[in-house]
Amino acid sequence: MSERGSIRAAVLTQTPGELRIEDVEIAAPRPDEVLVRVAACGLCHSDVHVLDGHLPAALPAVIGHECAGIVEAVGSEVTNVGVGDHVVTCTSQFCGSCPRCRDGETWLCARRRAIGRGAGDPPLSWSDQPLYPLGSLGGLAEQMLVHRNAVVAVPKEVPLDRAALLGCAVLTGVGSVINGARVRVGETVAVIGCGGVGLNVVQGARLAGAERIFAVDTEPAKLELARRFGATDVVDASAGPGAEAVLEASGGGVDHAFEVVGLPATIAQAVDIAAPGRTAYIIGVPAADATIEIPGGPMVFRQKAIRGLIMGSSRFTDDIPMLARLYLQGRLELDALIEEHIALDDVNAGYERLRAGTHARSVVTFDF
Ligand SMILES: [Zn+2]
Ligand SMILES: [Zn+2]
Repeated sequence: MSERGSIRAAVLTQTPGELRIEDVEIAAPRPDEVLVRVAACGLCHSDVHVLDGHLPAALPAVIGHECAGIVEAVGSEVTNVGVGDHVVTCTSQFCGSCPRCRDGETWLCARRRAIGRGAGDPPLSWSDQPLYPLGSLGGLAEQMLVHRNAVVAVPKEVPLDRAALLGCAVLTGVGSVINGARVRVGETVAVIGCGGVGLNVVQGARLAGAERIFAVDTEPAKLELARRFGATDVVDASAGPGAEAVLEASGGGVDHAFEVVGLPATIAQAVDIAAPGRTAYIIGVPAADATIEIPGGPMVFRQKAIRGLIMGSSRFTDDIPMLARLYLQGRLELDALIEEHIALDDVNAGYERLRAGTHARSVVTFDF
């Protein structure tokens, strides 16, 4: 099958801007590619950065990177998935041979953009122009054409709308705790920002056996959800920074402070609430031009560390199936992450609700 197919997709033509639902063309798989019929795509906050022009993107683009679907076709060299498999995709596409990949750190692959199609030959086109899938995925579309190292099969028992969340929010949140911070039983954790990713930091800390889990947010509804995901203490920061409350209740700071908002002010708070000798982790994606200001003295006198974590420091080909199994065992919460299911045509309204910050995940679902 060498012909290009026609699909509906959410196209971004300018930033800041909104998405337009358009008919676009998608290529047939090359030998190392997988064609996926998209079942569900979650709306993630880093998409909002792109829509608002705070993260660079080649345009016109199809965004959306938290997806699950069913394999429709595979190229001749693809052996990791087959037609009919239920799969989750991930932006942590990897080459498998660079120094980072050889160390097993596939999420840091140095040749991610060098594998697969070059920038001049995207899998999508629109009105005879190239159309770029953001993060090499482009999930807000009826189909995606992805590299074989951007996809992993999951058990068919996991509903695909839940499975989609494993591709970003859950992998990033839970992975940051178990792979990035390596939280141990009995330690203390604080999470600033309890949206889709932050709730998964909370449940990652629960899975790791943290004794105290402080959830900080400005939205009471999110704090209630955080309790359901495993928070032992909730701090309403709507009237002001919650750092003082966490410092007091924890007796001088926590072992691991996670910032899941991506703002310089909350990153500084995370450093504040890390105990002496402990670490603050930046998980929320800051805007491209954001600069973090941290008082220098405490970094030395209290021997603090600050560390960025990307995609949960996860080898997604191992961790996504593991997380799927934990869900099937009833030990990983996915159902309560989904606030609403929406149609592709309503995607702009979904992002507007995400901007307002009042609820967890909106998931676009496709009928087929
Ligand atoms: Zn995301
Ligand atoms: Zn690599």
